Amino acid sequence: MEHKGVTIWFTGLSGAGKTTISREVEARLRAQGYKVEVLDGDVVRTHLTKGLGYSKEDRDENIRRIGFVAHLLTRNGVIVIVSAISPYRAIRDEIRAKIGNFVEVYVNAPLEVCEARDVKGLYKKARAGEIKMFTGIDDPYEPPLNPEIECRTDIETLEESVEKVLRGLEKLGYISLPVVS
Ligand code: ADP
Repeated sequence: MEHKGVTIWFTGLSGAGKTTISREVEARLRAQGYKVEVLDGDVVRTHLTKGLGYSKEDRDENIRRIGFVAHLLTRNGVIVIVSAISPYRAIRDEIRAKIGNFVEVYVNAPLEVCEARDVKGLYKKARAGEIKMFTGIDDPYEPPLNPEIECRTDIETLEESVEKVLRGLEKLGYISLPVVS
């Protein structure tokens, strides 16, 4: 099936819901026959960007490499789903400019909510000082100023967030959805 490539870039705090939403969006798009690839920040850090740390320079390098691969795939007609904290606005905008077909999804939940979820137990460690440079605790997060899509996972169900993303992609002309879903 031929379709337009696009990078769907999920950004937000740890525990905001990037992985959960992106997995479901991936499944829904695949079920419809779209070519989809996923670049998950945590997974990518085990190979493509292995050895990089959490300084601003390393975080930017991490995002630059993810963006490079996303660009290659996008221009070959793939729907690329990136899920990475990507805390710095400037580098996200740099990647956006390079790729062109770029949809930024701000996965937004207040720090208190992410911390209460503590999906991976990392906030507890960060508060205890066992992890340094943890986004939202002792490292910055710069929210998107003008994201194409915003999911408020503190007040939306997963299904609502997923629908928002799919409808947003449809509205932007990247996918067409079944009439009845
Ligand atoms: P991240 O990938 O951003 O670090 P995760 O997806 O691993 O975050 O964790 C998000 C948590 O929030 C999951 O436990 C998920 O079930 C929960 N959650 C609650 N509401 C939503 C929603 N609307 N969208 C996504 N996740 C949600």
